[in-house]
Amino acid sequence: MTDFELTRRQFDLPEGMIYLNGNSLGPMPRESVPAMTRFLKDEWRTELIKGWNTKDWFMQTNTLGDRVGRLIGAPPGTTVVGDTLSIKVFQAVAAGMAMVPDRKVVLSDNGNFPTDLYIVEGLIKLRDAGYELRTPDPEDVMDNITEEVGVVMITEVDYRTGRRHDMKAIIDKAHGVGAVVVWDLAHSAGAVPVDVGGCDTDFAIGCTYKYLNGGPGAPAFIHVAPRLLETVEPFLSGWYGHEAPFAFDINYRPMAGKIERMRIGTPSIASFVLLSTALDIWDRVDMNDLHAKSVELSELLIGEIESRCPALRLVSPRDPQARGSHVSFAFEHGYACMQALIADNVIGDFRAPDVMRFGIAPLFIGRDDILAAVGKLERILKDERWKDERFQKRSLVT
Ligand SMILES: *Cc1c(COP(=O)(O)O)cnc(C)c1O
Repeated sequence: MTDFELTRRQFDLPEGMIYLNGNSLGPMPRESVPAMTRFLKDEWRTELIKGWNTKDWFMQTNTLGDRVGRLIGAPPGTTVVGDTLSIKVFQAVAAGMAMVPDRKVVLSDNGNFPTDLYIVEGLIKLRDAGYELRTPDPEDVMDNITEEVGVVMITEVDYRTGRRHDMKAIIDKAHGVGAVVVWDLAHSAGAVPVDVGGCDTDFAIGCTYKYLNGGPGAPAFIHVAPRLLETVEPFLSGWYGHEAPFAFDINYRPMAGKIERMRIGTPSIASFVLLSTALDIWDRVDMNDLHAKSVELSELLIGEIESRCPALRLVSPRDPQARGSHVSFAFEHGYACMQALIADNVIGDFRAPDVMRFGIAPLFIGRDDILAAVGKLERILKDERWKDERFQKRSLVT
């Protein structure tokens, strides 16, 4: 059994803060500071260029990739970390398009996170070959998987509402019509059990700064099905994906049959230190235990808000199995109300137009936190404290 009392103590949260935003940016593990200090003193300062060999910097893309891979059901050797999620969207969708060259439709949905759609728009312009991006309502994705579709690119858990797509059903239907599937697991990795291997997805991508707690701007990841590793086209054909990077050949030859071919260029080793420290906690977590705890806490939050804050309306699915690990409520004055809550040291966030979002991360959130947070929310609503002038102004980042 995962020990959630222990994992909680492994994070260094500011005194008195209730942090319900681990779905956007996870908190800092206590070990991050000593680990980073060790890296600076004992690796960068003393090893310098030798560190690529003596400290294995060069293959951390893969060793960290395998540790993230375990959390999403990916077999070893099929996941690498590096770059950003937006770049991984480009890589995966471009590779997917090349696998079905005669099909010109990329299917996503209009609940997807905008950057995923923007990147595909750019890719379509670049290809300039008559491609089309279709974005039906999320409920209509299944009906839109037809023989016209080449690539199905879906984010499993909706960043606003937490609604969760049925991964297996979509993959089976897509494969049935000969389409390729790319899953974005940004709000799934470390939130819900995922089995990319068992579902046989073609590609899966995601970031590590949300539930995985890798730190601001932590590296993204990409998983490619083992059956594709011989043939997948790494269009961002950088030297880290080359068969022999240190041959300094002037022509690109992708690393044969290995996930290395999805690497691009020199990654940020300093941010790998932070990711590795966060994964030291995750290595001992069972995703089924985590999910059970997430459901328990989410049900508590929903029940408490619905009984004590009736002005808020649940916009997440009521069925826990149809949700990720965050819960969202619509409220006309959601922005100001969230600002008032943040001023009271309960950190959630807001997504336009009117959604208040609460991330449930059982590694460091417990029942007492939920009860205290709803207590404060209830008082803010009763006192109409959200009407205060200082809660109306929108920051650059919401
Ligand atoms: C958070 C998130 C992103 C962010 O992409 P970055 O390149 O890391 O800024 C992209 N897609 C989805 C679905 C997300 O939830």
